[in-house]
Amino acid sequence: MPYRLKDGVYSIKCRHPQCPFNTRFEINQIIMGVNEQDVECEAMKIARDMAFIKHNEIYGTKHKLKNPQIRKISGNYVFIGTNQQQMEDERGAVSYRKFEKNELILKKGDDAATICQVVSGYAFPRRNKAHRYKVGYCFGIAGLLDKQNRTADIIAGTDNTKIGFHNIIKLSKINPKKARQLYNMSMEDIFEVIKDLEKTIEKLEKERTAKIEVV
Ligand SMILES: [Zn+2]
Repeated sequence: MPYRLKDGVYSIKCRHPQCPFNTRFEINQIIMGVNEQDVECEAMKIARDMAFIKHNEIYGTKHKLKNPQIRKISGNYVFIGTNQQQMEDERGAVSYRKFEKNELILKKGDDAATICQVVSGYAFPRRNKAHRYKVGYCFGIAGLLDKQNRTADIIAGTDNTKIGFHNIIKLSKINPKKARQLYNMSMEDIFEVIKDLEKTIEKLEKERTAKIEVV
């Protein structure tokens, strides 16, 4: 059954000799996993990635973050209940499906009425493989907008990728808090997609400028 990390704080220390880098990072995002270890492992990865960027900003010219020491300072694991889950299942607010590696989860142009959440495995959009939907992540909100169909192909990244398809209208009647949470998480994804797009545009512009300079 899924767990969630709340208010996680991790400290990361660089082991490079004479490097003073020793910083704390708050992990605010919701991390889900099948057990506490799973969540812990994912949180440490996120903390390490954050530290890597921060360290690179300060000492990037000198050295890369070396063999970092990662320690958990605080954070609670919240068990996500089963009774509520069962009730939602019964009333048809959510259905689950398992996918094999490379199988299509959402097809561009499909009629959309649900928000998708990754329960196990992971998924990614066909046109942006670097954009990973890990356990707990949501996608598919664009399809809920008026007169919008699914806007991208979403592919299963591994065998036994399990996806929950949440009917937000039904869910908001049974469990409005969860409906709002899923809605917010998938909105966050839209912002991530926009950020990715901006990065791509920036890169293209740089390449164009570079070409002009060469000419
Ligand atoms: Zn260092």
